[in-house]
Order: sequence, then C-alpha cells, then structure tokens
Amino acid sequence: MSLVKSFFIALSNNTFLNEAAKSMGPSLGANKVVAGNTIEDVVNTIKRLNRKNIAVTVDNLGEFVNNKQDAIAAKDDILKVMDAIYQHNLDAHMSVKLSQLGAEFDKALAYDNIYEIVATAKSYNNMHINIDTEKYDSLFDITQTLDRLKSEFSNVGTVIQAYLYKGDVLIDKYPNLRLRLVKGAYKESPYIAYQTKEEIDENYIHLIEKRLLNAQNMTSIATHDHNIINHVKSFIETHDIDKSRVEFQMLYGFRSDLAESIANEGYNFTIYVPFGDDWFGYFMRRLAERPQNLTLAFKEFVKPKTLAILGLVGLTACLLPQTLSKKVKRKSTSQPNRLRCRTRL
Ligand SMILES: Cc1cc2nc3c(=O)[nH]c(=O)nc-3n(C[C@H](O)[C@H](O)[C@H](O)COP(=O)(O)OP(=O)(O)OC[C@H]3O[C@@H](n4cnc5c(N)ncnc54)[C@H](O)[C@@H]3O)c2cc1C
Repeated sequence: MSLVKSFFIALSNNTFLNEAAKSMGPSLGANKVVAGNTIEDVVNTIKRLNRKNIAVTVDNLGEFVNNKQDAIAAKDDILKVMDAIYQHNLDAHMSVKLSQLGAEFDKALAYDNIYEIVATAKSYNNMHINIDTEKYDSLFDITQTLDRLKSEFSNVGTVIQAYLYKGDVLIDKYPNLRLRLVKGAYKESPYIAYQTKEEIDENYIHLIEKRLLNAQNMTSIATHDHNIINHVKSFIETHDIDKSRVEFQMLYGFRSDLAESIANEGYNFTIYVPFGDDWFGYFMRRLAERPQNLTLAFKEFVKPKTLAILGLVGLTACLLPQTLSKKVKRKSTSQPNRLRCRTRL
C-alpha cells in the first residue's frame, strides 16, 4: 500500500477525527462527494439528478456502529430517508450495509432491522433496497440474509465483487435478484480474491457478460472505468440485450460529465449518493482510493489554516495511532469496540 493511501486509510479509521468532523458537516472538499448532512440536502441533490434523467441510490452514512442504540438509530434514519423519497416521489432507492444495522455484534438485531427496512420499502411502491457488500468475512451474513428475505420480497438485492473467486458462484445463485456488479473495494487475501488489476478486470468482464446473458432482473454495472463501460455498451448492442434491464452506476461527484453523457445516450444511470454526519471516513477512503481526487479538495487544502490543521492532526493520527486510540478508549469505556478499525466503501 502506498504511503499516501496508508495515510488516508489511517485518517478514515480514526474515531477521534470521525467524531470531530461530525459537528462540521462535509468540508475540506468533501461536499463534492457527499451530498450534505440533512435529508433536505439529499432530497435536493436527488431532485437535481432526477432532472437530468439520473436515478439515485442513497447511502445514509454510518461508521463504527457497535451498540444496539446506534444500530436502531441507523435503521430509523434510513426509514426517514425512504419516507422522504416516497413523499417527494423521487426516482431513488437505498443502499444499506448490514454492519450499520448491527451485524458485527448482533446478527438477529441486524436481521430485524433489514427486515423492517425491506418491508417498509415494499409498501413504498416496492422501493428497491440494495445490501452493499463489505469485507469478505461478512459475505456469509449477507447471503444468508438475502436467502431469507428473497422468499418474501422481490425488492432486495446485493452487490457482487469481481475480485472474489466466488463471484461466479454468486452470479449463478441469484439470477432473479437485482444485482450490482463491482470490482471490489476491500483489501482481501490471495486465498479468496484476485490481486492484480488485470485479473480483476478480466473476471469483472467475464461476470458482467455471464450475468447479462442470463439475468432475469436489473443488472447494475458500477464502475468509473471507461474501458469497461465501453466494452459493456458494445456487448449490449452485439447481443441485443434489452437496455431496460441494465444500468450504469457511479459514485456521486465522480466523472459527472461521463455519467451525464451516458444517460443522454439513453442508458439507465444511477448515482450512489452518500450523505450524513459520518462523512469524514467515506471522504478519506475516496482520497485513498484515488489520490487524484485530492484536486477536489485542493481549494480548501491550500488555505494555510486548513492545511496546517489537517497536516498536524493527520500526522499525529498516522504516527501516534496508539496514543490517540488510547485517549478515545479511555473516554468511551462503555463502548469497548468503538476503536475497531476497518476499511469499507
Ligand atoms: C455505485 C458504486 C457502488 C459500489 N458499491 C460497492 C460495494 O457495495 N462493495 C464494494 O466492495 N465496492 C463497491 N464499489 C467500489 C468498487 O468495488 C471499486 O472499488 C471502485 O468503484 C473503483 O473501481 P472502478 O471500477 O471504478 O475503477 P478503477 O479500477 O478504480 O479505475 C479504472 C480506470 O478508470 C479510470 N477512472 C477511475 N476513476 C476515475 C475518475 N474519478 N476520474 C477519471 N478516471 C477515472 C482510470 O483510467 C482508472 O485507471 C462501488 C462502486 C460504485 C461506483
């Protein structure tokens, strides 16, 4: 992992900085990739994108959920966003993570939460609920959850990560579900996942083609990679695949011009829009993924005061993670897992 990547991942995992950032609202350039911190903010963003013929999947950001109260609060927040989408008649649905709903410490609670979300969504014109995939060790929970939900609901689906050797099996397992296909965002071991860009791209194309030829539901191709997008477009044309069963997806704030031009060509397009207080970790991970994204933040970073604060705090976070961690741990003794580090989308 490069030094720059490690630096931003360390910042994203730092609970002290995540907590401190909550009171600020998206800043340091994060407002380019996070649609504000209120429901009103996200509703306005969805309206703006819908006017351009672009649908939205909303991620109500939530990090470090490790107690029942936070998991239920996360579920209630998601229900409020769904209600706003429904009341405003927006072209949007939700992307949720089981970890946000409590899966890392209470699987039954997480299931109750996701069940309530999917059941409520059904009553909102069968609104779709996507279960985002996270680290490999949570995949079994996701498939188990889906297997239970799909016997009762048709408005739930998930994400297939092309870096997993298991991707093939999962594509075959869920032909009837709406699926999002991605390359995969987490660091996984060579025992379970392809490691090189070439191998991942090759498997990604293989899975996309297999899925498009056999799918009985919507397939979402979620990538910023123009080579993959161009390949998919020509595959759709060559094989006369019904365009209404395919869509492209990108993250909010990334390659917006390309997204709009693809939508203008008549393809379905959905933007993944994150919003909420917990913007800091998400933003740092986007910077880690593609440091070129720093240009988004440059205007803010070059202000001497901001640069000084971020540099100082970042350096402290990287060089003395134990010190910061211990301080926060002492403050939050009632929540012993609060400091668990992870990398997520
Ligand atoms: C909507 C959406 C939902 C996702 N959901 C999940 C999920 O649930 N689970 C999960 O594990 N992962 C998820 N991901 C992340 C995904 O797995 C990848 O980590 C991430 O999208 C980066 O891979 P990529 O396919 O975009 O292209 P990359 O491999 O990052 O880039 C390939 C090439 O595309 C071009 N490119 C990429 N980005 C840009 C840019 N910003 N500007 C200009 N050129 C660019 C460059 O030429 C680059 O070399 C999601 C991604 C998206 C878009």
